[in-house]
Amino acid sequence: MSLTKQQALDLFRSDDLIGLGMEADSLRRKLHPEGVATYIIDRNINYTNFCTEYCTFCAFYAPVKGPGRAKGYVLEMETIYEKIRETVDLGGTGVLMQGGLHPDLKIEWYEAMLSGIKQRFPQVHLHCFSASEIIHFADVSGLSIEETIQRLRDAGLDSIPGGGAEILDDEVRYKIARLKCLTDDWLNVHRTAHKLGMRTTATMMFGVGETFEHRINHFQRVFDLQEETGGFTAFIPWSFQPGNTALGGRHWEEATAVEYLKVLAIARLYLSNFENVQSSWVTQGLKVCQLGLRFGGNDVGSVMLEENVVRSAGVANCTTEEELRRMIRDAGFVPKRRDTLYRQLFLN
Ligand code: SF4
Repeated sequence: MSLTKQQALDLFRSDDLIGLGMEADSLRRKLHPEGVATYIIDRNINYTNFCTEYCTFCAFYAPVKGPGRAKGYVLEMETIYEKIRETVDLGGTGVLMQGGLHPDLKIEWYEAMLSGIKQRFPQVHLHCFSASEIIHFADVSGLSIEETIQRLRDAGLDSIPGGGAEILDDEVRYKIARLKCLTDDWLNVHRTAHKLGMRTTATMMFGVGETFEHRINHFQRVFDLQEETGGFTAFIPWSFQPGNTALGGRHWEEATAVEYLKVLAIARLYLSNFENVQSSWVTQGLKVCQLGLRFGGNDVGSVMLEENVVRSAGVANCTTEEELRRMIRDAGFVPKRRDTLYRQLFLN
């Protein structure tokens, strides 16, 4: 049973942080009674940073024109293969690949990349391309969304990450990412992927000037799609990292730990049809991530072997597998490795 919008609003306005955490923890315990918290070993690969969208919250992109173009890159295929080889050698099971919206790369380039990877590393799970990238590939290649996802899947794509969701409310999207896909477009990509039998994740980047109501609208939209398709594996909230961004340049105040924990706990309670909610160390650091395991989180994400997007905003938290396992154990859980689809791996 999910929260109502009014109940969620009351929780956002409440100061009873501990009570909220206990409620979220109690639902987490019902869904995951075995007391396990999971993590994955994988790598983020950002194949290009060229992008035509100029989102004000993004410190990662290089414009395709003007002086900023000099910092742009497109990775060579051999470089991508080498990064994946390293990932496999370090025990990684998956790759999360995302990039900017490059105006000249058409679907064939992505197909060649995916199939080239699968030929060399058939065991690696490819979790790639946010909804905005998929919409862009479809546009530049003259394809429908369904054809685009089908072709990527046939070339080796296994699942789709929830990036690009930011806040799923067009009032907010018009302000922070005017050129990027709208709420219905994001939902349509995920709905189409689910209908094709592909799993995806849902994310939220909060702290960009949105209201509590905007956040609740976001929860409701992903809740509704999960009711319709059941295709989401997890919900992953992140806080906006203002460093080196146009939006942050306006003296933005970063979300505090309390705000993060509230969002996590309310997400857990609202999204009762999501099996997994991730507590993130990448934006909040290990200590807040650990607390998040008592605020509804049952997963701590990835021992990331490479991460560039948050790092571009000046945030360079890093960790090791042993550190993540210790952090999980100290919070009272059994650490278990999982794959990209949140299935436990019985390795340790
Ligand atoms: S968030 Fe993505 S779409 Fe927006 S500017 Fe950055 S790379 Fe481009």
